[in-house]
Amino acid sequence: MPITESMLKFDREHIWHPYTSAVNPLTVFPVAGTEGVRIILEDGRELIDGMASWWSAIHGYNNPVLHKALCDQAQKMPHVMFGGLTHEPAILLAQTLVDISPEPLQHVFIADSGSVAVEVALKMAIQYWHALGHPEKNRLMTIRNGYHGDTIGCMSVCDPVNGMHSMFSSVLPEHIFADAPACRYEGGCPDEDFSDFKGRIEKHAHELAAVILEPIVQGAGGMRFYAPEYLQRVREACDEHGVLLICDEIATGFGRAGAMFASDIAGISPDIMCVGKSITGGLMSLAATLATHEVADGISSRGGVFMHGPTFMGNPLACAVANASLGLLMKSNWQERVENITAMLRSGLAPCEMLSTVADVRCLGAIGVVELKSPVDMDAIQREFVKRGVWVRPFGKLVYVMPPYIISNLELEALTSAICEVVSLHR
Ligand SMILES: *Cc1c(COP(=O)(O)O)cnc(C)c1O
Repeated sequence: MPITESMLKFDREHIWHPYTSAVNPLTVFPVAGTEGVRIILEDGRELIDGMASWWSAIHGYNNPVLHKALCDQAQKMPHVMFGGLTHEPAILLAQTLVDISPEPLQHVFIADSGSVAVEVALKMAIQYWHALGHPEKNRLMTIRNGYHGDTIGCMSVCDPVNGMHSMFSSVLPEHIFADAPACRYEGGCPDEDFSDFKGRIEKHAHELAAVILEPIVQGAGGMRFYAPEYLQRVREACDEHGVLLICDEIATGFGRAGAMFASDIAGISPDIMCVGKSITGGLMSLAATLATHEVADGISSRGGVFMHGPTFMGNPLACAVANASLGLLMKSNWQERVENITAMLRSGLAPCEMLSTVADVRCLGAIGVVELKSPVDMDAIQREFVKRGVWVRPFGKLVYVMPPYIISNLELEALTSAICEVVSLHR
């Protein structure tokens, strides 16, 4: 049954959509289905998906292998509590994550969303120092322009301006913010680009539990790419000053930045790592927090237990789909595909560099960004993209795409030429 006008009216009047007014919301387009790299609207129009449903649908939509995993698991055991019980899908998933992540990461907490995985990581770091007799090491340090999720703890380490800390200043703990890395991905990280971070970690190390950041790619907080050398310097500074390092790989994990994990590009290994988003190939909500043996051992000293346990922890349906998705990924030529996407995005978006309204064009892995000099009119620009048969959802000054890895060259060309056209309309 198609969506009726009155259903859409109900949606406008009663349903909260992300980051838009509840009473005067931006347009939403009703979707009837998805297939491959396409979103099919109720009116029959098909859109080439540039967003992979917020980084997650790496294999595209309706992949039969993922659907079979979901259906098979649904018939056996959709869910069972994880307290006092365990099951094959969770064990297999944890084994895979331990296998493919940097070697020191050995302990897996299976969470139900990215924000929860970040909350878990922050609590692990604080509990670690508490267990070691350093309860004063309970603050966090991060870099500006970061994004780590929308719950209160996550928000406290998001960029203070984008994350609107002023509105929540009475409830948010105050953490330490270093300048966003000035260095770009290419060209290394000279001393002056690391001096602000260095100064702050030296000053605050005695009260810091951990540094948390997104490795190499800062996602929703600015779509910025910084030098692997910066991340190496962060790792060294954390070691030197006795501060844990948390890498939030929720957006970058599973190949998006060109390596299995973005921290692999810098050849570093964090003490705690969060993964999510594409872990199930975009079918279900699932995330995980990995920790080193040292962190797990510290928390467990003198009979300590980690204090977190969501109702849907280790959900078998989500774990089974994640196992199928990671299996598909590892069997595929994802590295080649991602490299090809980088090359296609680079050449396809290059014409934007000529426009006087464009501040910067950058591509890394399967991510392409056109940064404008002024913010876009969201409602208008969204309509222009839909008119051209593509799904791109800009925010602020950023028009960006992170398509499914299975996207074809023809589809990539359609995507980038639509971006060039629509961006050239911007004044
Ligand atoms: C999306 C995202 C999160 C939050 O994940 P949710 O599943 O939306 O809660 C955290 N960190 C990063 C880097 C993200 O991109």
